[in-house]
Amino acid sequence: MKVLVLNAGSSSLKYQLFNMLTEQVIAKGMCERIGVNGGAEAYMGYSAAGRDKIEIQHEMPSHKEAIELMIATLTDKLNGVIASLDEIDAVGHRVLHGGETFKSSVIVNDEIMAKLEENVPLGPLHMPPNIMGIKACQEIMPGKKNVAVFDTAFHQTMPDYAYMYPLPYQDYKELRVRKYGFHGTSHRFVSEVAVKLLGKENSKVVVCHLGNGSSVSAVKDGKCIDTSMGLTPLEGLMMGTRCGNIDPAAVLYVMEKRNMSVKEMDSYMNKQSGILGIYEKNSDFRNVRDDYAKGDERAVLTLNMVCYKIKQYIGNYAASLGGIDAVCFTGGIGENSALVREKVCADLAFMGVDLDFDKNSRLERERTAGNVDISKDGSKAKILVIPTNEELVIARDTFDLAGK
Ligand code: ADP
Repeated sequence: MKVLVLNAGSSSLKYQLFNMLTEQVIAKGMCERIGVNGGAEAYMGYSAAGRDKIEIQHEMPSHKEAIELMIATLTDKLNGVIASLDEIDAVGHRVLHGGETFKSSVIVNDEIMAKLEENVPLGPLHMPPNIMGIKACQEIMPGKKNVAVFDTAFHQTMPDYAYMYPLPYQDYKELRVRKYGFHGTSHRFVSEVAVKLLGKENSKVVVCHLGNGSSVSAVKDGKCIDTSMGLTPLEGLMMGTRCGNIDPAAVLYVMEKRNMSVKEMDSYMNKQSGILGIYEKNSDFRNVRDDYAKGDERAVLTLNMVCYKIKQYIGNYAASLGGIDAVCFTGGIGENSALVREKVCADLAFMGVDLDFDKNSRLERERTAGNVDISKDGSKAKILVIPTNEELVIARDTFDLAGK
């Protein structure tokens, strides 16, 4: 009863091996710099539960060699955790874009593979490595079932008036331009935990996933009704290096003034903006937090902007949901930054979102694993810090579809 979870990026491969009886991670690792300079500088970090992490230098021209090294390590007599590949029941793959085709996870076959290829234009950077990861597994582990789990699937329940952009309709039909949303496995995991904690039949939940990439979702009775990311993960909140929502005309204006190409503008909005753009030193929120404490002007502006935009989405989605039973914080920033949670929730008591400042700051000092309610006793809505676990969602779906 073991499931392997893979997340193949353009030059990386992250993996976790789960024991599905206990839902514990038995071993995990990450290969980096795959294919960079022909794969000569690639390496893998690997750790088995309860043992020290090891680093392995190995040439990895493609994901195929990375997956072979991963298998060799997992089955290694000294460092391994399984005797042979037979112990792995199925492989779950994180796939960025399901388009409108995939509303839930699927077992991959030839027909599904062809449909995944059709979605490459919607995620030109992520889809090719995602597909490559599946193909490499089919080649190296023939007969093993592969399951695709999509970042977009959870958001497929949005109503049309929420996901449509007011652009010529023809471009929705022909180019598939619409809002899809991302981080779906995280929003699904966190909202499911919240609904359980609320213990009521009808629920109105807002999930704030705040990491390097950030998004907010509105979840009514367990179903997503809106989310902040769009056709791509660029829409919505201000993020590590992404600008999020701006006036689209600003893009045209800057392009014209700076004589920029489409490619340059893409990099400008995705890699040079957001926290990095305003704070300028880097995109690591911990540095912003430290400089904010020292009163650094730019750090103060950055942090205020980040929090204000999250707050706006909570108000926005409270309106979409017609009320609010829980606001959930997750992701590197959401789980760890009491300051962000405090600034986001400040002055929201009027709509029943009443933060207990002491519980909130105590959580940062005494971080314990698990889900914590940081709302005031008597607050109409709960404010929950729920550590996300996207890999576990992938493992569960894989096990449900292919492992049982
Ligand atoms: P990703 O989106 O890449 O999965 P994470 O969810 O791990 O990223 O979040 C990374 C972000 O969380 C970084 O900006 C990091 O600085 C921030 N972060 C981590 N710990 C803290 C903390 N204690 N306080 C503030 N920010 C933090």
